[in-house]
Amino acid sequence: MANILLTQKCIRSCPYCFARKHMHDAPPEDILKWEDLIYIVDFFQAGGDNSISLLGGEPFLHPEIVDYILYIISRGMHVTVFTSGVVSEKIFAQAVDRLADVDPGMLSFVVNLNNPKDTPFSENETIGRFMATFARFTCLSINVYKLKFDYSFAVAAINKYGLQRHIRLGLAHPIPGKKNMCIKPDQMSLMATELIDYLPTLEAFNIRVGFDCGVPMCAFTDDQLGKLFRHTGGMMSFRCGSAIDIGPDMEVWSCFPMSGYNKKSLFEFKNRQELCEYFDSFIDTVRTETGGMYQKCDYCDNRLRHLCSGGCLSHALNNFVNEAHIRNENVYPSK
Ligand code: SF4
Ligand code: SF4
Repeated sequence: MANILLTQKCIRSCPYCFARKHMHDAPPEDILKWEDLIYIVDFFQAGGDNSISLLGGEPFLHPEIVDYILYIISRGMHVTVFTSGVVSEKIFAQAVDRLADVDPGMLSFVVNLNNPKDTPFSENETIGRFMATFARFTCLSINVYKLKFDYSFAVAAINKYGLQRHIRLGLAHPIPGKKNMCIKPDQMSLMATELIDYLPTLEAFNIRVGFDCGVPMCAFTDDQLGKLFRHTGGMMSFRCGSAIDIGPDMEVWSCFPMSGYNKKSLFEFKNRQELCEYFDSFIDTVRTETGGMYQKCDYCDNRLRHLCSGGCLSHALNNFVNEAHIRNENVYPSK
């Protein structure tokens, strides 16, 4: 599934953001154009995809996002919009007017929620308005970026606004060479224990978590894996699957932490298959140089059996940023 960045601008500055460099470097006029949206939809639909994700920055900063959503749906593709929920009055009014009757089977909002205690009051009001209005389309995404993470704000929001009873749980990943907040490799087990301890509370409210990419399997003991298995019905993943991110300028890269590595233009690829093969092979060469976030990943049976990918590559790549270029060139940032 393609992730299209409608704009790289964002109005928040989350401490864990691994896309921050993109946001700060992006010129204000840097928004995806109609002709490029149509090209992307043609490109991926011809390749067999039936869904597209819109993200940013903050995708609702794009003045034509409502038209873009409706256009993609009219092409028979499902749209997932990843948003902060901070939406201007004008765009919000358009969204209410034109999206309220859309089939929820064709449109999902994933609201990336931060703890309201760390969020300005005016933002909390706007986010609450969005969640209340679009509850039937909306599930929450939270980014765990520190130990002693307080999950209760997500439970409170789901209950208050009647959101879907599922939380997409991501670990904040490091930006190689930068300093964003994230769970360090030696903190993973503690993070895992804190999460497992919170599962009964989630289950009491019939809320389930699902992992985003890059969670290391060995952070959990076998007993904890059993609890997770029961909680998720076996739908837990410890994989790193290269997403395909496309910027407003039609640059393409494999996923955000890898955005400083080996960027291409979408126009360089004939079709979706060629694009995916290119980035899969790129990731393979990086994984050959470094198996994962721990040295033990290189010979880990879980990795060899494809049960775990070795955590997010960004941890390993972070270690190489300042060294002499003695490895496969793909492990060093290209700019
Ligand atoms: S490197 Fe893998 S785990 Fe990390 S963000 Fe990219 S796809 Fe996810
Ligand atoms: S591959 Fe690495 S991160 Fe995954 S379980 Fe093995 S040692 Fe842990």
